[in-house]
Amino acid sequence: MFEICILGTNSAVPAFGRHPTAQMLTHMGTSFLLDCGEGTQLQAARYGQRLRKLEAIFITHLHGDHVLGLVGILTTLSLGGRPLPLTLVGPVGIRAFVEYGLAQTYSTVRYPIEFVELDNPQPGQEVYRGKRMMVSALPLSHRVPTVGYLFTEIPARQRFLFYEAKRLGVPKEKMGLLKLGNPVTLEDGFTVLPEQVLAAPDPPRRYAFCTDTGFLPELAGHIAGVDLLYHESTFLQDQEQRARDTFHSTAADAARIARQAGVGKLLLGHYSARYKELQPFLDEARRVFPHTELALEGQLISIPLNRAE
Ligand SMILES: [Zn+2]
Repeated sequence: MFEICILGTNSAVPAFGRHPTAQMLTHMGTSFLLDCGEGTQLQAARYGQRLRKLEAIFITHLHGDHVLGLVGILTTLSLGGRPLPLTLVGPVGIRAFVEYGLAQTYSTVRYPIEFVELDNPQPGQEVYRGKRMMVSALPLSHRVPTVGYLFTEIPARQRFLFYEAKRLGVPKEKMGLLKLGNPVTLEDGFTVLPEQVLAAPDPPRRYAFCTDTGFLPELAGHIAGVDLLYHESTFLQDQEQRARDTFHSTAADAARIARQAGVGKLLLGHYSARYKELQPFLDEARRVFPHTELALEGQLISIPLNRAE
């Protein structure tokens, strides 16, 4: 499973309410929180996203709409009795922000927080490695130090083809030997070789989370061919100058990055409050890159396996 839950898109569009920028990524029983604007934990509860399996939090930058929910969530985890350490990755300043917030509210967090502060990270620099997920930095172009994140699955070793082994008549108790790469001789003298029942691992799935940023052409080279790209689109082209001035992107900018990088699918988000409808974002982006969707609060997006068969 590789699934993203949109907890909020920072949309201030009146019809959609005011939401935090946050997403929960769930991968093989582990979850990661991406940004944590105000209200994130309420949104997580509303959409049935458990915080218990949270392994790490990734913060793109220290603007309030991306971090103001952080202290609340960290204390909630502690009240829930979390024993496991939590990794918190973000630009320099994230540690001071959290420690000050905890200290000044007389809050204690009883589990260890491992801070990974990024100071001018290089594109592709590894910032986190879990059992099945590697995360690298994607420096972005915003008014304050900002970093996007590229999530890349760490492939399992080889896939064991259970049904093929069964078809060949391998008894259950001998399957373990085959899985470990040993040949197995059956009762009738027939030998099953490991290569008959082991297949190459699935190609790793990749997700790029890029917000907030101005149009940054070189980003495309660092996310070439990712399965899914979330790219901010604060404005439409009618406000291109404003996008440039405030280091945000238009829907067309996001689509150009997606097209140049040849991504599987583009997900737009972080819409400005000045727009009353979101459809124009989709229309503008699809003219450049057809495989585009709008990120909407509460939505679940799965990245299917890239199995080559
Ligand atoms: Zn920002």
